[in-house]
Amino acid sequence: TVEASGITRRFGDAAALDGVDLTVREGELVALLGPSGSGKTTLLRVIAGLEGMDAGTLRIAGQDMAGVPARERGIGVVFQHYALFRHMKVADNIAFGLDVRPRATRPDRAEMTRRVAALLALVQIPDLARRYPDQLSGGQRQRVALARALAIEPRLLLLDEPFGALDALVRRDVRRWVRGLQERLAITTILVTHDQEEAMEMADRVAVMERGRIVQFDTPSALLDQPATPFVAGFIGDAA
Ligand code: ATP
Repeated sequence: TVEASGITRRFGDAAALDGVDLTVREGELVALLGPSGSGKTTLLRVIAGLEGMDAGTLRIAGQDMAGVPARERGIGVVFQHYALFRHMKVADNIAFGLDVRPRATRPDRAEMTRRVAALLALVQIPDLARRYPDQLSGGQRQRVALARALAIEPRLLLLDEPFGALDALVRRDVRRWVRGLQERLAITTILVTHDQEEAMEMADRVAVMERGRIVQFDTPSALLDQPATPFVAGFIGDAA
């Protein structure tokens, strides 16, 4: 469970996040949906511990995250452009995910090799371990990024516009596949997107963001049936 309360983040005079409350239940997929600049990525970065906050509290699995560094939060992140290391083979990119854990919990070499193979099988690219990122398609790169994020067996998965770089034709299949995997692993997930259709199709609940605030947080069908504001109605309506 993720419990965010009153989260505020300012850049200069402007509040990128202005008192955000958000609760994500165990195993749930929540989408943060909103136009460019509404604060989605900033909220994801605050939760990941990559960005500080000026006010508010964040608890994950009951634990207060104040002062807890990113690598100790047990969170897997897939960034918008995947952020793979170009000079490292696929297997090493994934092993890096295992390596960032606190020293005491790192597996030994043999275990690492076994885990990397299992992760490649999980994301259905078992034969690509020795390739470099430049030698992969966009969809394959995304699978590597997902495998790297899952390597630490995170208690929370954060996905920042994970389908943005993919061809419209494959996007729909990949969404279904990612959602299937998320459900199968029952991993609590927060997905950032500006794509209404993606949010409505994939998420258990959608948080609609506007100018640093969550204006409505509900199931896709409730958002369609009872939009709280004209902004939500207009934004969601585009998908229908
Ligand atoms: P997008 O869909 O375009 O990525 P977003 O909803 O994720 O948008 P954020 O990236 O969270 O929005 O940005 C929210 C606001 O905070 C924007 O006005 C942005 O310009 C500002 N902002 C974000 N990061 C910084 C920063 N490091 N320094 C200054 N302003 C920032």
